[in-house]
Amino acid sequence: MPPTIRRKSVTVNVGGIRVGSDAPVVVQSMTNTDTADVESTVQQIAALARAGSEIVRITVNNEDAAQAVPHIVEGLRAKGWETPIVGDFHYNGHILLRKVPEMARALSKYRINPGNVSIGRKDDDNFRTMVECAVEFQKPVRIGVNWGSLDQALLTKMMDENQKSATPKDTRDVMLETMVRSALDNAEAAERYGLRRDQIVLSAKVSNVRDLIDVNTSLAARTDHAIHLGLTEAGMGMKGIVASAAGLSPLLLAGIGDTIRVSLTPEPGAPRTEEVRCAQQILQSLAIRSFMPQVTSCPGCGRTTSTYFQELAQRIQNYLAESMPEWKKTYPGVEEMKLAVMGCIVNGPGESKHANIGISLPGTFEEPKAPVYIDGKLATTLKGDHIVEEFQVILDEYVQKRYGKQLVEA
Ligand code: SF4
Repeated sequence: MPPTIRRKSVTVNVGGIRVGSDAPVVVQSMTNTDTADVESTVQQIAALARAGSEIVRITVNNEDAAQAVPHIVEGLRAKGWETPIVGDFHYNGHILLRKVPEMARALSKYRINPGNVSIGRKDDDNFRTMVECAVEFQKPVRIGVNWGSLDQALLTKMMDENQKSATPKDTRDVMLETMVRSALDNAEAAERYGLRRDQIVLSAKVSNVRDLIDVNTSLAARTDHAIHLGLTEAGMGMKGIVASAAGLSPLLLAGIGDTIRVSLTPEPGAPRTEEVRCAQQILQSLAIRSFMPQVTSCPGCGRTTSTYFQELAQRIQNYLAESMPEWKKTYPGVEEMKLAVMGCIVNGPGESKHANIGISLPGTFEEPKAPVYIDGKLATTLKGDHIVEEFQVILDEYVQKRYGKQLVEA
Protein backbone atom coordinates (compact mmCIF):
# COMPACT_ATOMS: atom_id res chain seq x y z
CA MET A 1 0.00 0.00 0.00
CA PRO A 2 1.57 3.35 -0.93
CA PRO A 3 2.33 5.55 2.08
CA THR A 4 0.28 8.71 2.54
CA ILE A 5 2.39 11.75 1.69
CA ARG A 6 1.74 14.31 4.38
CA ARG A 7 1.51 17.97 3.56
CA LYS A 8 4.55 19.84 4.87
CA SER A 9 3.72 22.05 7.82
CA VAL A 10 5.36 23.79 10.72
CA THR A 11 5.62 21.40 13.68
CA VAL A 12 4.13 22.54 16.98
CA ASN A 13 5.10 21.16 20.38
CA VAL A 14 1.98 20.69 22.51
CA GLY A 15 3.15 19.75 25.98
CA GLY A 16 5.71 17.30 24.59
CA ILE A 17 3.52 15.95 21.77
CA ARG A 18 4.66 16.94 18.29
CA VAL A 19 1.91 18.08 15.95
CA GLY A 20 2.52 18.64 12.25
CA SER A 21 4.42 17.56 9.17
CA ASP A 22 6.20 14.23 9.70
CA ALA A 23 4.87 13.67 13.26
CA PRO A 24 2.19 10.98 13.55
CA VAL A 25 -1.36 12.30 13.17
CA VAL A 26 -2.34 12.97 16.79
CA VAL A 27 -5.64 11.76 18.27
CA GLN A 28 -7.41 14.28 20.48
CA SER A 29 -10.61 14.29 22.49
CA MET A 30 -12.57 16.56 24.77
CA THR A 31 -14.19 16.04 28.16
CA ASN A 32 -17.87 16.64 28.86
CA THR A 33 -17.60 16.91 32.62
CA ASP A 34 -18.02 20.17 34.54
CA THR A 35 -14.39 21.35 34.63
CA ALA A 36 -14.95 22.79 38.11
CA ASP A 37 -15.54 19.20 39.29
CA VAL A 38 -11.88 18.23 39.59
CA GLU A 39 -12.39 14.58 40.47
CA SER A 40 -14.81 13.76 37.64
CA THR A 41 -12.71 15.65 35.13
CA VAL A 42 -9.49 13.89 36.18
CA GLN A 43 -11.27 10.55 35.94
CA GLN A 44 -12.61 11.24 32.49
CA ILE A 45 -9.30 12.57 31.16
CA ALA A 46 -7.56 9.46 32.53
CA ALA A 47 -10.15 7.25 30.78
CA LEU A 48 -9.68 9.14 27.50
CA ALA A 49 -5.89 8.92 27.84
CA ARG A 50 -6.11 5.19 28.61
CA ALA A 51 -8.18 4.74 25.46
CA GLY A 52 -5.41 6.48 23.50
CA SER A 53 -6.24 10.17 23.43
CA GLU A 54 -2.88 11.91 23.12
CA ILE A 55 -4.17 15.40 23.88
CA VAL A 56 -7.32 16.23 25.86
CA ARG A 57 -9.22 19.52 25.75
CA ILE A 58 -11.32 20.80 28.61
CA THR A 59 -13.67 23.75 28.63
CA VAL A 60 -12.58 26.72 30.72
CA ASN A 61 -15.78 28.69 30.82
CA ASN A 62 -15.79 30.47 34.20
CA GLU A 63 -13.65 31.27 37.18
CA ASP A 64 -14.45 28.06 39.04
CA ALA A 65 -13.34 26.05 36.02
CA ALA A 66 -10.19 28.17 35.69
CA GLN A 67 -9.32 27.67 39.37
CA ALA A 68 -9.82 23.91 38.97
CA VAL A 69 -7.39 23.54 36.06
CA PRO A 70 -4.10 23.40 38.05
CA HIS A 71 -5.65 20.81 40.39
CA ILE A 72 -6.83 18.74 37.43
CA VAL A 73 -3.37 18.74 35.87
CA GLU A 74 -1.80 17.93 39.23
CA GLY A 75 -4.29 15.09 39.82
CA LEU A 76 -3.58 13.61 36.43
CA ARG A 77 0.19 13.74 36.85
CA ALA A 78 -0.21 12.08 40.26
CA LYS A 79 -1.99 9.23 38.47
CA GLY A 80 0.92 8.93 36.05
CA TRP A 81 -0.70 10.60 33.03
CA GLU A 82 1.40 13.19 31.21
CA THR A 83 -1.36 13.92 28.66
CA PRO A 84 -1.24 17.59 27.57
CA ILE A 85 -4.37 19.48 28.62
CA VAL A 86 -5.76 22.17 26.35
CA GLY A 87 -8.04 24.95 27.60
CA ASP A 88 -11.04 25.71 25.43
CA PHE A 89 -11.93 29.41 25.73
CA HIS A 90 -14.90 31.39 24.48
CA TYR A 91 -16.00 34.98 25.22
CA ASN A 92 -14.09 35.44 28.50
CA GLY A 93 -10.74 33.69 27.92
CA HIS A 94 -8.89 37.02 28.01
CA ILE A 95 -10.26 37.70 31.51
CA LEU A 96 -9.69 34.19 32.89
CA LEU A 97 -6.15 33.83 31.55
CA ARG A 98 -5.14 37.14 33.17
CA LYS A 99 -7.02 36.53 36.41
CA VAL A 100 -5.85 32.95 37.02
CA PRO A 101 -2.20 32.73 35.94
CA GLU A 102 -1.78 29.29 37.58
CA MET A 103 -4.35 28.02 35.07
CA ALA A 104 -2.57 29.74 32.17
CA ARG A 105 0.66 28.07 33.26
CA ALA A 106 -0.82 24.61 33.86
CA LEU A 107 -2.41 24.28 30.41
CA SER A 108 -0.37 22.99 27.47
CA LYS A 109 -2.26 24.92 24.80
CA TYR A 110 -5.05 27.47 24.50
CA ARG A 111 -7.86 27.11 22.00
CA ILE A 112 -9.06 30.51 20.85
CA ASN A 113 -12.25 30.92 18.85
CA PRO A 114 -11.75 34.13 16.86
CA GLY A 115 -15.48 34.32 16.17
CA ASN A 116 -16.42 35.04 19.75
CA VAL A 117 -13.33 36.25 21.56
CA SER A 118 -13.76 39.91 20.65
CA ILE A 119 -17.51 39.83 20.15
CA GLY A 120 -19.22 43.23 20.27
CA ARG A 121 -15.91 45.08 20.02
CA LYS A 122 -14.43 47.08 17.20
CA ASP A 123 -10.86 46.08 18.02
CA ASP A 124 -9.21 42.75 18.72
CA ASP A 125 -7.98 43.60 22.22
CA ASN A 126 -9.39 40.43 23.76
CA PHE A 127 -7.74 38.24 21.14
CA ARG A 128 -4.52 40.16 21.65
CA THR A 129 -4.68 39.66 25.44
CA MET A 130 -5.03 35.90 24.99
CA VAL A 131 -2.13 35.76 22.57
CA GLU A 132 -0.01 37.85 24.94
CA CYS A 133 -0.76 35.34 27.72
CA ALA A 134 0.33 32.55 25.39
CA VAL A 135 3.55 34.45 24.68
CA GLU A 136 4.14 35.12 28.37
CA PHE A 137 3.66 31.47 29.35
CA GLN A 138 5.15 30.15 26.10
CA LYS A 139 2.10 28.07 25.17
CA PRO A 140 0.95 27.23 21.67
CA VAL A 141 -2.56 28.19 20.61
CA ARG A 142 -5.12 26.70 18.27
CA ILE A 143 -7.01 29.31 16.34
CA GLY A 144 -10.20 27.32 15.93
CA VAL A 145 -12.75 28.76 13.54
CA ASN A 146 -16.19 27.19 13.74
CA TRP A 147 -18.96 27.90 11.27
CA GLY A 148 -21.50 28.06 14.11
CA SER A 149 -19.65 30.96 15.70
CA LEU A 150 -18.06 32.56 12.67
CA ASP A 151 -16.85 36.17 13.00
CA GLN A 152 -20.06 37.96 11.99
CA ALA A 153 -18.38 41.28 11.19
CA LEU A 154 -15.98 39.56 8.78
CA LEU A 155 -18.80 37.51 7.26
CA THR A 156 -20.92 40.63 6.66
CA LYS A 157 -17.95 42.40 5.09
CA MET A 158 -17.21 39.50 2.78
CA MET A 159 -20.89 39.08 1.83
CA ASP A 160 -21.01 42.79 0.95
CA GLU A 161 -17.85 42.53 -1.14
CA ASN A 162 -19.26 39.49 -2.88
CA GLN A 163 -22.51 41.26 -3.72
CA LYS A 164 -20.59 44.07 -5.36
CA SER A 165 -18.43 41.68 -7.33
CA ALA A 166 -19.00 41.28 -11.07
CA THR A 167 -19.04 37.51 -10.61
CA PRO A 168 -20.58 36.85 -7.20
CA LYS A 169 -20.05 33.44 -5.62
CA ASP A 170 -22.79 31.52 -3.90
CA THR A 171 -23.38 32.02 -0.17
CA ARG A 172 -21.80 28.70 0.79
CA ASP A 173 -18.55 29.57 -0.94
CA VAL A 174 -18.43 32.98 0.71
CA MET A 175 -19.04 31.40 4.10
CA LEU A 176 -16.23 28.86 3.62
CA GLU A 177 -13.89 31.56 2.32
CA THR A 178 -14.72 33.68 5.40
CA MET A 179 -13.69 30.76 7.61
CA VAL A 180 -10.36 30.43 5.83
CA ARG A 181 -9.79 34.17 5.93
CA SER A 182 -10.67 34.31 9.65
CA ALA A 183 -8.14 31.56 10.45
CA LEU A 184 -5.36 33.09 8.33
CA ASP A 185 -5.94 36.70 9.43
CA ASN A 186 -5.96 35.71 13.08
CA ALA A 187 -2.85 33.57 12.68
CA GLU A 188 -1.13 36.57 11.14
CA ALA A 189 -2.30 38.78 14.01
CA ALA A 190 -1.08 36.21 16.56
CA GLU A 191 2.39 36.33 14.97
CA ARG A 192 2.28 40.13 15.05
CA TYR A 193 1.53 39.97 18.78
CA GLY A 194 4.53 37.76 19.45
CA LEU A 195 3.72 34.08 18.87
CA ARG A 196 6.07 32.09 16.68
CA ARG A 197 4.73 30.18 13.68
CA ASP A 198 5.56 26.94 15.41
CA GLN A 199 3.20 27.90 18.24
CA ILE A 200 0.08 28.12 16.09
CA VAL A 201 -2.32 25.37 14.98
CA LEU A 202 -5.35 26.21 12.82
CA SER A 203 -8.72 24.55 12.43
CA ALA A 204 -11.87 25.19 10.43
CA LYS A 205 -14.78 23.10 11.65
CA VAL A 206 -18.16 22.66 10.06
CA SER A 207 -20.87 20.04 10.49
CA ASN A 208 -21.34 19.17 6.82
CA VAL A 209 -19.00 16.61 5.27
CA ARG A 210 -18.58 18.29 1.86
CA ASP A 211 -18.00 21.67 3.50
CA LEU A 212 -15.39 20.15 5.79
CA ILE A 213 -13.46 18.74 2.86
CA ASP A 214 -13.67 21.97 0.83
CA VAL A 215 -12.79 24.39 3.61
CA ASN A 216 -9.81 22.38 4.80
CA THR A 217 -8.52 21.75 1.29
CA SER A 218 -8.60 25.49 0.72
CA LEU A 219 -6.99 26.26 4.08
CA ALA A 220 -4.22 23.68 3.61
CA ALA A 221 -3.35 25.10 0.19
CA ARG A 222 -2.81 28.57 1.65
CA THR A 223 -0.76 28.00 4.78
CA ASP A 224 1.97 25.85 6.26
CA HIS A 225 0.45 26.00 9.74
CA ALA A 226 -0.37 22.65 11.31
CA ILE A 227 -4.06 21.81 10.94
CA HIS A 228 -6.44 20.20 13.41
CA LEU A 229 -9.34 18.39 11.72
CA GLY A 230 -12.76 17.52 12.98
CA LEU A 231 -16.34 17.46 11.86
CA THR A 232 -18.02 19.59 14.47
CA GLU A 233 -21.27 18.31 15.98
CA ALA A 234 -20.87 15.06 14.05
CA GLY A 235 -23.90 13.59 15.77
CA MET A 236 -24.81 10.42 17.55
CA GLY A 237 -23.93 6.79 16.94
CA MET A 238 -23.65 5.49 13.42
CA LYS A 239 -24.45 8.84 11.83
CA GLY A 240 -21.62 10.58 13.67
CA ILE A 241 -19.13 7.80 13.03
CA VAL A 242 -19.90 7.48 9.34
CA ALA A 243 -19.98 11.25 8.75
CA SER A 244 -16.66 11.71 10.56
CA ALA A 245 -15.02 8.91 8.60
CA ALA A 246 -16.45 10.23 5.34
CA GLY A 247 -15.24 13.77 6.06
CA LEU A 248 -11.83 13.05 7.53
CA SER A 249 -10.72 10.26 5.19
CA PRO A 250 -10.35 12.20 1.90
CA LEU A 251 -8.45 14.93 3.74
CA LEU A 252 -6.16 12.52 5.57
CA LEU A 253 -5.48 10.61 2.36
CA ALA A 254 -4.55 13.91 0.71
CA GLY A 255 -2.02 14.42 3.52
CA ILE A 256 -4.10 17.14 5.22
CA GLY A 257 -4.61 17.02 8.98
CA ASP A 258 -2.00 16.87 11.73
CA THR A 259 -4.36 16.16 14.61
CA ILE A 260 -7.93 14.89 14.59
CA ARG A 261 -10.94 14.71 16.84
CA VAL A 262 -14.19 12.86 16.28
CA SER A 263 -16.94 14.91 17.93
CA LEU A 264 -19.47 12.18 18.69
CA THR A 265 -22.51 12.84 20.80
CA PRO A 266 -22.35 9.91 23.24
CA GLU A 267 -25.44 7.74 23.38
CA PRO A 268 -26.95 7.70 26.89
CA GLY A 269 -24.70 5.56 29.07
CA ALA A 270 -22.06 5.11 26.37
CA PRO A 271 -18.49 5.91 27.35
CA ARG A 272 -16.89 9.16 26.20
CA THR A 273 -13.93 7.06 24.99
CA GLU A 274 -15.92 5.98 21.89
CA GLU A 275 -14.74 9.10 20.11
CA VAL A 276 -11.11 8.14 20.73
CA ARG A 277 -11.59 4.64 19.38
CA CYS A 278 -13.40 6.01 16.36
CA ALA A 279 -10.56 8.43 15.58
CA GLN A 280 -8.02 5.63 15.95
CA GLN A 281 -10.05 3.33 13.73
CA ILE A 282 -10.24 5.97 10.98
CA LEU A 283 -6.45 6.36 11.02
CA GLN A 284 -5.90 2.61 11.16
CA SER A 285 -8.36 1.84 8.37
CA LEU A 286 -6.45 4.29 6.18
CA ALA A 287 -3.15 2.62 7.13
CA ILE A 288 -1.89 5.93 8.51
CA ARG A 289 -1.31 4.69 12.07
CA SER A 290 -1.75 1.41 13.93
CA PHE A 291 -3.32 1.26 17.37
CA MET A 292 -4.54 -2.28 17.83
CA PRO A 293 -4.62 -5.59 15.97
CA GLN A 294 -7.25 -5.59 13.25
CA VAL A 295 -9.78 -8.38 12.95
CA THR A 296 -11.09 -9.13 9.50
CA SER A 297 -14.40 -10.91 9.82
CA CYS A 298 -16.84 -11.75 7.10
CA PRO A 299 -20.42 -10.47 7.36
CA GLY A 300 -21.82 -13.99 7.57
CA CYS A 301 -24.57 -15.21 5.27
CA GLY A 302 -26.95 -18.11 4.80
CA ARG A 303 -24.04 -20.49 5.25
CA THR A 304 -23.71 -19.37 8.92
CA THR A 305 -27.15 -19.95 10.34
CA SER A 306 -26.15 -19.77 14.01
CA THR A 307 -24.81 -16.76 15.95
CA TYR A 308 -21.74 -18.78 16.96
CA PHE A 309 -19.54 -17.14 14.36
CA GLN A 310 -20.60 -13.58 15.38
CA GLU A 311 -20.02 -14.45 19.04
CA LEU A 312 -16.55 -15.74 18.27
CA ALA A 313 -15.63 -12.59 16.32
CA GLN A 314 -16.94 -10.46 19.19
CA ARG A 315 -15.09 -12.48 21.84
CA ILE A 316 -11.81 -12.23 19.94
CA GLN A 317 -12.33 -8.49 19.49
CA ASN A 318 -13.01 -8.08 23.23
CA TYR A 319 -10.02 -10.23 24.12
CA LEU A 320 -7.76 -8.02 22.00
CA ALA A 321 -9.16 -4.84 23.57
CA GLU A 322 -8.62 -6.25 27.07
CA SER A 323 -5.12 -7.51 26.31
CA MET A 324 -3.82 -4.47 24.45
CA PRO A 325 -2.94 -2.18 27.41
CA GLU A 326 -0.52 -4.88 28.65
CA TRP A 327 0.54 -6.16 25.22
CA LYS A 328 1.44 -2.63 24.09
CA LYS A 329 4.04 -2.44 26.85
CA THR A 330 5.37 -5.97 26.49
CA TYR A 331 5.09 -6.71 22.79
CA PRO A 332 6.10 -3.76 20.61
CA GLY A 333 4.59 -3.90 17.15
CA VAL A 334 1.65 -6.08 18.22
CA GLU A 335 -0.73 -3.32 17.07
CA GLU A 336 0.25 -4.24 13.48
CA MET A 337 -1.05 -7.82 13.85
CA LYS A 338 -3.88 -8.93 11.58
CA LEU A 339 -6.45 -11.56 12.45
CA ALA A 340 -9.18 -13.15 10.38
CA VAL A 341 -12.33 -14.69 11.81
CA MET A 342 -14.32 -16.18 8.97
CA GLY A 343 -17.67 -17.89 8.80
CA CYS A 344 -17.04 -20.79 6.41
CA ILE A 345 -14.66 -22.36 3.94
CA VAL A 346 -15.73 -20.22 0.95
CA ASN A 347 -13.46 -17.27 1.78
CA GLY A 348 -12.26 -18.43 5.19
CA PRO A 349 -8.99 -20.16 4.31
CA GLY A 350 -8.10 -17.53 1.68
CA GLU A 351 -8.64 -14.59 4.04
CA SER A 352 -6.98 -16.49 6.90
CA LYS A 353 -3.84 -16.99 4.83
CA HIS A 354 -3.51 -13.22 4.40
CA ALA A 355 -3.66 -12.62 8.15
CA ASN A 356 -1.06 -13.33 10.83
CA ILE A 357 -3.57 -15.69 12.40
CA GLY A 358 -6.85 -16.72 10.90
CA ILE A 359 -9.60 -19.10 11.83
CA SER A 360 -12.26 -20.39 9.52
CA LEU A 361 -15.31 -21.74 11.29
CA PRO A 362 -17.49 -24.50 9.97
CA GLY A 363 -20.48 -23.24 8.03
CA THR A 364 -23.82 -25.01 8.12
CA PHE A 365 -23.56 -28.57 6.78
CA GLU A 366 -19.75 -28.34 6.81
CA GLU A 367 -17.66 -30.75 8.83
CA PRO A 368 -17.50 -29.36 12.44
CA LYS A 369 -13.87 -28.29 12.41
CA ALA A 370 -12.07 -24.95 12.31
CA PRO A 371 -8.74 -24.74 10.50
CA VAL A 372 -6.32 -22.20 11.99
CA TYR A 373 -3.72 -20.57 9.76
CA ILE A 374 -0.57 -18.98 11.12
CA ASP A 375 1.49 -16.77 8.83
CA GLY A 376 -0.24 -18.19 5.79
CA LYS A 377 0.12 -21.87 6.65
CA LEU A 378 -2.35 -24.31 8.08
CA ALA A 379 -1.15 -24.76 11.68
CA THR A 380 -3.87 -26.85 13.29
CA THR A 381 -7.54 -27.70 13.12
CA LEU A 382 -9.72 -27.09 16.16
CA LYS A 383 -12.77 -29.18 17.00
CA GLY A 384 -15.24 -29.51 19.83
CA ASP A 385 -16.75 -27.10 22.36
CA HIS A 386 -13.68 -25.06 23.29
CA ILE A 387 -12.65 -23.57 19.98
CA VAL A 388 -12.60 -19.98 21.32
CA GLU A 389 -10.47 -20.82 24.36
CA GLU A 390 -8.06 -22.89 22.29
CA PHE A 391 -7.82 -20.16 19.69
CA GLN A 392 -6.97 -17.63 22.42
CA VAL A 393 -4.14 -19.86 23.63
CA ILE A 394 -2.78 -20.05 20.08
CA LEU A 395 -3.09 -16.28 19.80
CA ASP A 396 -1.23 -15.70 23.09
CA GLU A 397 1.57 -18.02 22.02
CA TYR A 398 1.84 -16.30 18.65
CA VAL A 399 2.01 -12.83 20.22
CA GLN A 400 4.70 -13.94 22.67
CA LYS A 401 6.76 -15.67 20.02
CA ARG A 402 6.42 -13.02 17.31
CA TYR A 403 6.48 -9.75 19.25
CA GLY A 404 8.24 -10.81 22.46
CA LYS A 405 11.24 -11.81 20.34
CA GLN A 406 11.64 -8.23 19.11
CA LEU A 407 11.90 -7.11 22.72
CA VAL A 408 14.69 -9.60 23.46
CA GLU A 409 16.50 -8.66 20.26
CA ALA A 410 16.21 -4.95 21.06
S1 SF4 B 1 -16.95 -16.52 4.24
FE1 SF4 B 1 -18.63 -17.99 4.13
S2 SF4 B 1 -19.99 -17.40 5.80
FE2 SF4 B 1 -18.65 -15.66 5.47
S3 SF4 B 1 -19.86 -14.38 4.05
FE3 SF4 B 1 -18.46 -15.64 2.80
S4 SF4 B 1 -19.70 -17.43 2.25
FE4 SF4 B 1 -20.77 -16.43 3.94
